Amino acid sequence: MNPNLVNLVYLIAGVLFILGIKGLTKPKTAVRGNLLSAVGMMIAVIVTLMDSSVVNMTYIVAGVTVGTLIGAVMALRIQMTSMPEMVALLNGFGGGASLSIALAEYYSRLGLNATSVADLAAPVVVGSSAFGDGFQGTVTLVSITLTVLIGALTLTGSVIAFTKLKEIMKNSYGLPGGPIGNGLLLAAALFAVGTVVMDPGNTSAMLMLIGLAFLLGIFLVIPIGGADMPVVIALLNSYSGIAAALAGFILGNTVLIIAGSLVGTSGLILTNIMCVAMNRSLGNVLFGKMAEGGETIDADEIYAGKVTSAQADEVALILETAKRVVIVPGYGMAMAQAQHAVRELANAMEARGTEVEYGIHPVAGRMPGHMNVLLAEAEVPYDKLVEMDKINPTFDDTDVAIVLGANDVVNPMARDVEGSPIYGMPILNVDYAKTVVVIKRSLSPGFAGLPNPLFAMDNTIMVYGDGKKAVIEMTTALNQA
Ligand code: NDP
Repeated sequence: MNPNLVNLVYLIAGVLFILGIKGLTKPKTAVRGNLLSAVGMMIAVIVTLMDSSVVNMTYIVAGVTVGTLIGAVMALRIQMTSMPEMVALLNGFGGGASLSIALAEYYSRLGLNATSVADLAAPVVVGSSAFGDGFQGTVTLVSITLTVLIGALTLTGSVIAFTKLKEIMKNSYGLPGGPIGNGLLLAAALFAVGTVVMDPGNTSAMLMLIGLAFLLGIFLVIPIGGADMPVVIALLNSYSGIAAALAGFILGNTVLIIAGSLVGTSGLILTNIMCVAMNRSLGNVLFGKMAEGGETIDADEIYAGKVTSAQADEVALILETAKRVVIVPGYGMAMAQAQHAVRELANAMEARGTEVEYGIHPVAGRMPGHMNVLLAEAEVPYDKLVEMDKINPTFDDTDVAIVLGANDVVNPMARDVEGSPIYGMPILNVDYAKTVVVIKRSLSPGFAGLPNPLFAMDNTIMVYGDGKKAVIEMTTALNQA
């Protein structure tokens, strides 16, 4: 196929990706944005397959078939609440794919015909133009080695993130020396990068680089616990994009460079947004500094004798007279699948003239945009979903804040208790409302594992029970009032 035509189609695909991302910035245009990006990816894949440099269709068709089947089954079976785990795993696959491309390219350019693992480490005398001449050769080698480094650490880091989110790995462990140990590991990996670039035939250095990068991925993510996990996922997403862009340089494939760069940069932007939302600096996250001190906070001391609870129908009496209500959903709403019930409750309140809005914290739930997706599914109008910065000043004038299965994102310790592990994380100031109704099954902590002084405040009423059931009971009582 004419290379100019291929590149033109790649350019069109790139434009579609960008338009797609733009569409994804607003709930109203998100579905169209998703479609545009998917079409862009489809035409990029078709053109790449039609390109004459594709040598073996059998493997490609087999790979696409198996991959499509596994992907479709995963996507159909996955629960909304498990989406972050899936994203973590897919990031890892992306990193692994780029790693494979880089290694295949490296060994094929070396002309190494390995029959055992030991052969992979055998020194090779490299022909002068095996990786391209002069500057071009250096660019290829730098791209290969950096793809190996980033792809490998994305793969292992994502697998660790997956096991942590799935709670297969419950504890956090650090490399001896903490951030300094990670820094040394990174320095050693960069040394291996330099060695391979200077001496491409040094296959032992390449194997060392792979091993160090795998370790780095593990040690970067293992110490990170609780509330930092979303930032890690966004960061790994960005890494997988950077690895793909570098793989694009190795293959000289424009669309891979464009798509990889878009994923890399949007992942970094998301990382930054998440860091701000969780009050973590990027350096902190990069070098795996763990939040400490949670275990020293005594839940009994906070709650003893101070928690007030009520039944759903008693709360309905308060809602009857409320002029303004803000609903704050969290992970528990997702668990209870209470989004439709909550919409019904809002309808019932609005029918009585109450103003109802939803306060959305950027990290409520278990993935960015989790609450927006669920509430959109229940057809809650987009303009009722108000971001944290906009809704916070309104709590002083709010009669009732209904906290539905949210915990960490409304924990006043983040605002008031210096030294608490989540100190500085911006929260929804629900406790400034006249009355706070918290719906959850018990006083159990949320994702960060911390007690929540909100539950013991004078203006807070706990409604214990499954989120959906409690909300339905409230709606029924309100409709009967
Ligand atoms: P939390 O995890 O802090 O709290 C959720 C609460 O929901 C729990 O305390 C639980 O209490 C309650 N709950 C669980 N099931 C039900 C149910 N069926 N009915 C009613 N309540 C239920 O959630 P938040 O949304 O407040 O905070 C999100 C946390 O997750 C933050 O720490 C954030 O950092 C982290 N995180 C966020 C990600 C993101 O991208 N959004 C990704 C990964 C982590 P009980 O058991 O008593 O019912």
